[in-house]
Amino acid sequence: MRIILLGPPGVGKGTQAQLICKKYDIPHISTGNMLRDHTRRDTELGQQAQKMMNAGQLVPDDLMLAMVDERLSEPDTANGFLLDGFPRTVAQAVGLAAHLEEKDLGLDAIVAIALDHGILLSRLSARRTCANCNAVYNLIVNPPREMGVCDRCGKAELIQRDDDKPATISDRLAVYEQQTMPLLAYYKPTGLLLEFSGDGTVDEVFERILTKLSEIQAGG
Ligand code: AMP
Repeated sequence: MRIILLGPPGVGKGTQAQLICKKYDIPHISTGNMLRDHTRRDTELGQQAQKMMNAGQLVPDDLMLAMVDERLSEPDTANGFLLDGFPRTVAQAVGLAAHLEEKDLGLDAIVAIALDHGILLSRLSARRTCANCNAVYNLIVNPPREMGVCDRCGKAELIQRDDDKPATISDRLAVYEQQTMPLLAYYKPTGLLLEFSGDGTVDEVFERILTKLSEIQAGG
Protein backbone atom coordinates (compact mmCIF):
# COMPACT_ATOMS: atom_id res chain seq x y z
CA MET A 1 0.00 0.00 0.00
CA ARG A 2 1.18 3.52 -0.80
CA ILE A 3 -0.64 5.90 1.48
CA ILE A 4 -0.55 9.62 2.24
CA LEU A 5 -1.80 10.70 5.64
CA LEU A 6 -3.16 14.25 5.75
CA GLY A 7 -4.46 16.26 8.66
CA PRO A 8 -3.75 19.23 10.87
CA PRO A 9 -1.18 19.08 13.65
CA GLY A 10 -2.75 17.44 16.70
CA VAL A 11 -5.28 15.34 14.82
CA GLY A 12 -3.50 12.09 15.70
CA LYS A 13 -1.62 11.48 12.44
CA GLY A 14 1.51 10.15 14.12
CA THR A 15 -0.42 7.68 16.25
CA GLN A 16 -2.61 6.47 13.40
CA ALA A 17 0.45 6.27 11.16
CA GLN A 18 2.17 3.90 13.58
CA LEU A 19 -0.91 1.64 13.64
CA ILE A 20 -1.46 1.63 9.88
CA CYS A 21 2.23 0.91 9.20
CA LYS A 22 2.24 -1.99 11.64
CA LYS A 23 -0.91 -3.42 10.07
CA TYR A 24 0.40 -3.23 6.48
CA ASP A 25 4.07 -3.72 7.32
CA ILE A 26 5.16 -0.59 5.50
CA PRO A 27 7.68 2.09 6.55
CA HIS A 28 6.38 5.16 8.34
CA ILE A 29 7.93 8.13 6.60
CA SER A 30 7.40 11.18 8.78
CA THR A 31 9.10 14.24 7.34
CA GLY A 32 8.81 15.94 10.75
CA ASN A 33 10.71 13.05 12.38
CA MET A 34 13.29 13.08 9.58
CA LEU A 35 13.86 16.81 10.05
CA ARG A 36 14.10 16.46 13.84
CA ASP A 37 16.67 13.74 13.29
CA HIS A 38 18.66 16.11 11.06
CA THR A 39 18.55 18.83 13.72
CA ARG A 40 19.71 16.34 16.39
CA ARG A 41 22.61 15.29 14.18
CA ASP A 42 23.25 18.99 13.39
CA THR A 43 23.46 18.39 9.63
CA GLU A 44 23.31 21.27 7.16
CA LEU A 45 19.64 20.50 6.45
CA GLY A 46 18.97 20.32 10.20
CA GLN A 47 20.51 23.75 10.71
CA GLN A 48 18.47 25.20 7.82
CA ALA A 49 15.22 23.64 9.07
CA GLN A 50 15.42 24.26 12.80
CA LYS A 51 14.49 27.95 12.80
CA MET A 52 11.44 27.37 10.59
CA MET A 53 10.32 24.37 12.61
CA ASN A 54 10.58 26.24 15.90
CA ALA A 55 8.51 29.06 14.42
CA GLY A 56 5.86 26.64 13.13
CA GLN A 57 6.63 27.61 9.52
CA LEU A 58 7.17 25.21 6.64
CA VAL A 59 10.62 24.21 5.43
CA PRO A 60 11.08 25.19 1.73
CA ASP A 61 9.57 22.81 -0.85
CA ASP A 62 12.84 22.12 -2.69
CA LEU A 63 14.57 20.91 0.49
CA MET A 64 11.59 18.73 1.39
CA LEU A 65 11.29 17.24 -2.08
CA ALA A 66 14.99 16.37 -2.20
CA MET A 67 14.77 14.70 1.22
CA VAL A 68 11.66 12.69 0.34
CA ASP A 69 12.90 11.70 -3.14
CA GLU A 70 15.98 10.24 -1.51
CA ARG A 71 13.97 8.43 1.17
CA LEU A 72 11.57 6.94 -1.40
CA SER A 73 14.51 5.52 -3.29
CA GLU A 74 15.46 3.28 -0.37
CA PRO A 75 14.69 -0.43 -0.79
CA ASP A 76 12.31 -0.72 2.20
CA THR A 77 9.73 1.30 0.25
CA ALA A 78 9.44 -1.38 -2.44
CA ASN A 79 6.21 -2.80 -0.96
CA GLY A 80 4.73 0.54 -0.10
CA PHE A 81 5.02 3.34 2.42
CA LEU A 82 3.02 5.78 4.44
CA LEU A 83 3.86 9.46 4.15
CA ASP A 84 3.04 11.39 7.31
CA GLY A 85 3.37 15.17 7.13
CA PHE A 86 4.22 15.18 3.43
CA PRO A 87 3.08 16.64 1.09
CA ARG A 88 2.18 19.82 2.93
CA THR A 89 1.84 22.14 -0.08
CA VAL A 90 0.44 21.72 -3.57
CA ALA A 91 3.99 22.18 -4.95
CA GLN A 92 5.15 19.21 -2.85
CA ALA A 93 2.20 17.13 -4.09
CA VAL A 94 3.09 17.95 -7.70
CA GLY A 95 6.74 17.03 -7.03
CA LEU A 96 5.71 13.75 -5.41
CA ALA A 97 3.42 12.91 -8.34
CA ALA A 98 6.33 13.47 -10.75
CA HIS A 99 8.62 11.26 -8.65
CA LEU A 100 6.07 8.43 -8.54
CA GLU A 101 5.24 8.74 -12.23
CA GLU A 102 8.91 8.44 -13.07
CA LYS A 103 8.96 5.14 -11.21
CA ASP A 104 5.62 4.08 -12.69
CA LEU A 105 4.03 3.91 -9.25
CA GLY A 106 0.63 5.08 -8.09
CA LEU A 107 -0.88 5.96 -4.75
CA ASP A 108 -3.54 3.72 -3.16
CA ALA A 109 -5.15 6.13 -0.74
CA ILE A 110 -5.00 9.60 0.69
CA VAL A 111 -6.26 9.34 4.25
CA ALA A 112 -7.39 12.75 5.51
CA ILE A 113 -8.31 13.18 9.17
CA ALA A 114 -10.12 16.29 10.41
CA LEU A 115 -10.99 17.61 13.84
CA ASP A 116 -12.52 20.67 15.44
CA HIS A 117 -10.05 23.55 16.03
CA GLY A 118 -10.67 23.69 19.80
CA ILE A 119 -9.96 19.98 20.25
CA LEU A 120 -6.77 20.30 18.18
CA LEU A 121 -5.50 23.06 20.46
CA SER A 122 -6.06 21.05 23.62
CA ARG A 123 -4.58 17.89 22.10
CA LEU A 124 -1.43 19.65 20.92
CA SER A 125 -0.74 21.06 24.35
CA ALA A 126 -1.14 17.54 25.81
CA ARG A 127 1.18 15.88 23.30
CA ARG A 128 4.43 14.30 24.42
CA THR A 129 7.05 12.81 22.12
CA CYS A 130 9.79 10.33 22.92
CA ALA A 131 13.08 12.11 22.25
CA ASN A 132 14.72 8.71 21.78
CA CYS A 133 12.40 6.83 19.37
CA ASN A 134 9.83 9.48 18.25
CA ALA A 135 6.82 7.56 19.63
CA VAL A 136 3.92 9.95 20.16
CA TYR A 137 1.65 10.10 23.21
CA ASN A 138 -1.16 12.29 24.36
CA LEU A 139 -1.69 12.85 28.05
CA ILE A 140 -5.48 13.00 27.45
CA VAL A 141 -6.35 10.37 24.84
CA ASN A 142 -3.26 8.16 24.62
CA PRO A 143 -1.07 8.39 27.74
CA PRO A 144 1.99 6.16 28.24
CA ARG A 145 1.45 3.23 30.64
CA GLU A 146 3.93 4.73 33.08
CA MET A 147 3.97 8.53 33.31
CA GLY A 148 7.05 9.97 31.60
CA VAL A 149 8.30 6.64 30.26
CA CYS A 150 8.03 5.53 26.62
CA ASP A 151 6.01 2.29 26.20
CA ARG A 152 7.92 1.47 23.03
CA CYS A 153 11.60 1.95 23.96
CA GLY A 154 11.40 2.20 27.77
CA LYS A 155 13.40 5.45 27.97
CA ALA A 156 12.25 8.21 30.32
CA GLU A 157 12.65 10.84 27.62
CA LEU A 158 9.09 11.99 26.94
CA ILE A 159 9.27 15.67 26.09
CA GLN A 160 7.03 18.45 24.87
CA ARG A 161 8.32 19.51 21.46
CA ASP A 162 9.23 23.21 21.23
CA ASP A 163 6.68 23.63 18.47
CA ASP A 164 3.94 22.10 20.66
CA LYS A 165 4.26 25.00 23.07
CA PRO A 166 1.34 27.45 23.08
CA ALA A 167 3.08 30.30 21.25
CA THR A 168 3.73 28.17 18.17
CA ILE A 169 0.60 26.02 18.09
CA SER A 170 -1.74 28.62 16.60
CA ASP A 171 0.86 29.53 13.94
CA ARG A 172 1.10 25.88 12.91
CA LEU A 173 -2.68 25.57 12.64
CA ALA A 174 -2.84 28.74 10.52
CA VAL A 175 -0.07 27.43 8.24
CA TYR A 176 -2.02 24.18 7.87
CA GLU A 177 -5.20 25.99 6.87
CA GLN A 178 -3.47 28.25 4.37
CA GLN A 179 -0.92 25.92 2.80
CA THR A 180 -2.00 22.33 3.37
CA MET A 181 -5.81 22.39 3.27
CA PRO A 182 -5.74 23.15 -0.49
CA LEU A 183 -4.37 19.61 -0.91
CA LEU A 184 -7.84 18.25 -0.22
CA ALA A 185 -9.14 19.97 -3.37
CA TYR A 186 -6.00 18.86 -5.23
CA TYR A 187 -6.51 15.19 -4.37
CA LYS A 188 -10.33 15.08 -4.61
CA PRO A 189 -10.45 14.48 -8.38
CA THR A 190 -8.13 11.46 -8.04
CA GLY A 191 -10.94 9.52 -6.34
CA LEU A 192 -8.37 8.32 -3.76
CA LEU A 193 -9.27 10.76 -1.02
CA LEU A 194 -10.75 9.15 2.10
CA GLU A 195 -11.98 11.62 4.71
CA PHE A 196 -12.39 10.74 8.38
CA SER A 197 -13.30 12.41 11.62
CA GLY A 198 -10.50 12.27 14.18
CA ASP A 199 -13.02 12.41 17.01
CA GLY A 200 -13.10 9.47 19.42
CA THR A 201 -10.49 7.13 20.82
CA VAL A 202 -7.36 6.06 18.98
CA ASP A 203 -8.93 2.63 18.38
CA GLU A 204 -12.19 4.07 17.08
CA VAL A 205 -10.42 6.28 14.54
CA PHE A 206 -8.13 3.41 13.51
CA GLU A 207 -11.14 1.14 13.00
CA ARG A 208 -12.78 3.71 10.70
CA ILE A 209 -9.62 4.03 8.63
CA LEU A 210 -8.92 0.31 8.52
CA THR A 211 -12.42 -0.53 7.31
CA LYS A 212 -11.94 1.72 4.28
CA LEU A 213 -8.35 0.64 3.58
CA SER A 214 -9.38 -3.03 3.73
CA GLU A 215 -12.07 -2.34 1.12
CA ILE A 216 -9.47 -0.74 -1.12
CA GLN A 217 -7.04 -3.59 -0.64
CA ALA A 218 -9.77 -6.17 -1.36
CA GLY A 219 -10.77 -4.25 -4.50
CA GLY A 220 -7.21 -3.80 -5.73
P1 AMP B 1 5.41 17.50 12.04
O1 AMP B 1 6.19 16.62 12.94
O2 AMP B 1 4.87 16.78 10.85
O3 AMP B 1 4.34 18.27 12.77
O4 AMP B 1 6.43 18.58 11.46
C1 AMP B 1 7.13 19.48 12.31
C2 AMP B 1 7.68 20.66 11.51
O5 AMP B 1 8.59 20.17 10.51
C3 AMP B 1 6.64 21.45 10.72
O6 AMP B 1 5.98 22.42 11.51
C4 AMP B 1 7.51 22.06 9.63
O7 AMP B 1 8.28 23.14 10.14
C5 AMP B 1 8.47 20.93 9.31
N1 AMP B 1 7.93 20.04 8.25
C6 AMP B 1 7.60 18.72 8.37
N2 AMP B 1 7.15 18.21 7.22
C7 AMP B 1 7.19 19.25 6.33
C8 AMP B 1 6.85 19.40 4.95
N3 AMP B 1 6.33 18.37 4.25
N4 AMP B 1 7.03 20.61 4.38
C9 AMP B 1 7.55 21.65 5.06
N5 AMP B 1 7.88 21.60 6.35
C10 AMP B 1 7.71 20.41 6.99
